[in-house]
Amino acid sequence: LSALLRVTKAPADKILGLTAKFNVDLHPNKINLTVGIYKDNNGRVTTFPSVASAQSMLDSSLDLNNDLSYLPITGSQDYQDNVLNFLYRESSNGHELLEDNRITFVQTLSGTGALAVASKLLATFVSKVVWIPNPSWANHANVFQWNGFNQIKYYTYYENGKLDIDKWLKELKDNYSSADPGWPSSIVLHACCHNPTGVDPTIEQWKQILPVIHDLGIIPIVDMAYQGMESGDLMKDAYLLRMCLEYEWPNGLFVCQSFAKNMGLYGERVGSLSVVVPPQPKELKNNIDSQLKKIVRGIYSSPPGYGSRVANLVLSNPALKQQWFTDVKGMSDRLWNIRVEMHKRLNWPSLIDFKTQHGMFYFTGLNPYQVQILQEQYGIYLTQDGRMSLSGVNSSNVDYLCESLHQVVE
Ligand code: PLP
Repeated sequence: LSALLRVTKAPADKILGLTAKFNVDLHPNKINLTVGIYKDNNGRVTTFPSVASAQSMLDSSLDLNNDLSYLPITGSQDYQDNVLNFLYRESSNGHELLEDNRITFVQTLSGTGALAVASKLLATFVSKVVWIPNPSWANHANVFQWNGFNQIKYYTYYENGKLDIDKWLKELKDNYSSADPGWPSSIVLHACCHNPTGVDPTIEQWKQILPVIHDLGIIPIVDMAYQGMESGDLMKDAYLLRMCLEYEWPNGLFVCQSFAKNMGLYGERVGSLSVVVPPQPKELKNNIDSQLKKIVRGIYSSPPGYGSRVANLVLSNPALKQQWFTDVKGMSDRLWNIRVEMHKRLNWPSLIDFKTQHGMFYFTGLNPYQVQILQEQYGIYLTQDGRMSLSGVNSSNVDYLCESLHQVVE
């Protein structure tokens, strides 16, 4: 008997599996509202003007794009400089940390790669337990489990149609006494546009949450996959990073950042992991740098080059950067406009209550049965938890979508 029989069948990916099903659905009006990819009003995944300009600059310049050799293990130096500048000088007030050489950096395979490398380092040396919001992006638990975390714990985040931070913080505190101080727990915090609910704590609520996490010695892992998509302003949306930087984190602050959504570079895998390390002892930073390199070397050796060259140009050329800010604002405005158009047809207040929900995802509150009816009878695909990716809605399908939702809810 083959030892390969020990390989049992894993469940299909919850989100990508649905797209496979959608692709073979013959319903004439079918709409895919599952995956978090931005589409324009014609239902197309288009390249942002800023990114398209960067691509054509690369295409026409042998100097910029003719070197197809390996990048260094932790990515290109230009990319590191540009991204650190973007995150810690422009998006936040972390310039002193940069000047004091307290931020270790890896160019990663997008946000998922950043989470994977971070979790490998943490689980190997620092932390075995991670807290994830309930609900969360389905891949969080998967990434932490595969990379060595022994225990995934879920903190109450959204229950009975609303954010519940009192319960969240109580759970963290109640679990503290049993925690092993030598192996602090980690916690995943969505920086903005929480996936799947679209609901984030307010600044005032973060002011209650962060001191608790800090005082319990829990290690924050800030997952910033949607910077710019909450308010349309890239800088404004980095509020959680700014707030975290107001504290010293003795076990480090881990920032996992992605240009997949806000530059539309999904398949190019462009992101970063940065770790803010404590000031003392001095060797900490070098030790962490060296282990991060070893982790990357052992998994994929070095990151891909092309996408980071595109991002480099967008981040470093003032005209392209200005265009990028406009592009992100345009995307966020369109997503908001979809909410307004849907609200006109459905009169569901949660669609347009910015305080309650924002960003690419709308958490409909539909139950799994209603989601199934939508899919089977109307050809409309949401994830099973009732999350709708608004970017699949446009002026040609909004009427059909809202009529169908109306029917299913009645
Ligand atoms: N984190 C969250 C919350 C996400 O929703 C996503 C993508 O959907 C990611 C991280 C990582 O995305 P990527 O690896 O494409 O950057």
